[in-house]
Amino acid sequence: MAKVTGFLEFDRIENKSINPKVRIKNFDEFILPYSEKILNQQSSRCMNCGIPYCHNSCPVNNVIPDWNELVYEGDWKSALKTLHSTNNFPEFTGRICPAPCEAACTLNIEDNPVTIKGIERSIIDRGYKEGWIVPQIKKEKTGKSIAVIGSGPAGLACAQQLARAGHNVDVFEKNDRVGGLLRYGIPNFKMEKHYIDKRVRQMEAEGVKFKCNVNVGIDFSAEDLIKNYNAIVLACGSEEPRDLGIPGRDLNGVHFAMDFLTLQNKMCEGDTVSKENQISAKDKDVVVIGGGDTGSDCIGTSNRQGAKSVTQLEILGKPPEKEDKLLTWPNWPLKLRTSSSHEEGVSRTWSVSTKSFQGDGHNLKSLLLKKVEWKKDNDNKMILKELNGNDSEITLKADLVLLAMGFLHPKKDKLIKDLGIKLDDRGNVLANEVDYKTNLEKIFVSGDMRRGQSLVVWAIREGRQVAHSVDKFLMGQTVLPY
Ligand SMILES: Cc1cc2nc3c(=O)[nH]c(=O)nc-3n(C[C@H](O)[C@H](O)[C@H](O)COP(=O)(O)OP(=O)(O)OC[C@H]3O[C@@H](n4cnc5c(N)ncnc54)[C@H](O)[C@@H]3O)c2cc1C
Ligand code: SF4
Repeated sequence: MAKVTGFLEFDRIENKSINPKVRIKNFDEFILPYSEKILNQQSSRCMNCGIPYCHNSCPVNNVIPDWNELVYEGDWKSALKTLHSTNNFPEFTGRICPAPCEAACTLNIEDNPVTIKGIERSIIDRGYKEGWIVPQIKKEKTGKSIAVIGSGPAGLACAQQLARAGHNVDVFEKNDRVGGLLRYGIPNFKMEKHYIDKRVRQMEAEGVKFKCNVNVGIDFSAEDLIKNYNAIVLACGSEEPRDLGIPGRDLNGVHFAMDFLTLQNKMCEGDTVSKENQISAKDKDVVVIGGGDTGSDCIGTSNRQGAKSVTQLEILGKPPEKEDKLLTWPNWPLKLRTSSSHEEGVSRTWSVSTKSFQGDGHNLKSLLLKKVEWKKDNDNKMILKELNGNDSEITLKADLVLLAMGFLHPKKDKLIKDLGIKLDDRGNVLANEVDYKTNLEKIFVSGDMRRGQSLVVWAIREGRQVAHSVDKFLMGQTVLPY
């Protein structure tokens, strides 16, 4: 245990961040690092619980109490080693993970959890600063070749693990840059992209070959894939967005969130986007439909682009401000969440359903909304009921609507069709989370493509676990952690 009285002496202190009015002037990260003194105090708060719920609720099972203690003792190098033993990319999760570990921390029973995510980020940032993150090159090669399709967090974690086991790994990516949603979904202000580039350089030195601008199934056939590789890992994400097929959907100004976010991320990379292809929020009344991470990212991006107003609509009711700890802890609670993008300015409306987009025949002008309520039916199932009456309809002015209502399943593209791969009843690629094997010999799947739209930390877990399974399949045994 770091310090027996740490949790009694010190309260939780969150990382400071740049003032919202200042930070929306650019797309840079805005969370400020802890000082050495605060880090020492914050890590000392960990009680090294007999049952560390933090560790259990972390999808990659980060060994949190151990690295808290090492940080307290100032043994940063060992803390980094411990952190890397369960997570290939803590610089990603230390920035963008919603931190189920903190919800599960014993000290969260009093709303005062250990600042696990901030400590994680401090460890990995220190590792980079000190030059401790170097390639781990495996000298003995197995001679086996593996194709990983998709370079999101699942594909990257899988490729790194397999290269470190001595295999030849090729990562195919249909986009022009590596990273999946880390690169083109998640905005720079949540995670700057040089972190991906650093890992790509490390992985290249470890022997991974990245092949960008190759849409597998079209530019490289499924047949060639099977012929040329000993094993194939599909990690293509869950890219089919949920649409809103209501009148006016085809008006100019109604877009999927990912089209909007990708363009901004490309501009942050220095790409030029022609005027006719731009989707800009500048001086516009923006409405974001959908209340999750993607919706928040649209709000933060719209404010940075100079939107006149930003409104977020959610069909569900407003959740409670505070959870009932006795009912929820240590699980992830349903409660009102205010993201950093919300803090930057947005008007939030719950319990509304969008009935139509209205315009002048070409351009969007407004939305017609209907108030709804959620009631339990006789079987205790929540059902949606539209309200009637004079004030139940709302007309909302809008020049730009961003649809951020989640993703259904992977694209049913040529690759899936040509391979003849089996899907589950939600449309994801069918495989269990023990061996990650699809119905086809030597073809595996991981990440959002298998589990459906999820989190970066789950994608990393699945990438690591599928690598374990592939290595075992090829070599008969494996030392890669599961
Ligand atoms: C806007 C947005 C914000 C998010 N914010 C967060 C967050 O803050 N925290 C968090 O934990 N999670 C967040 N998520 C979820 C998270 O990004 C995903 O769960 C995670 O990236 C899934 O990883 P993946 O590797 O399975 O797939 P992806 O990241 O989707 O990567 C799949 C890759 O496969 C490539 N590909 C697909 N088909 C082919 C093909 N045929 N040939 C070659 N390449 C192909 C794609 O181009 C893509 O690069 C967010 C998601 C979105 C959309
Ligand atoms: S649950 Fe909280 S206090 Fe307990 S070991 Fe984990 S981080 Fe430390």
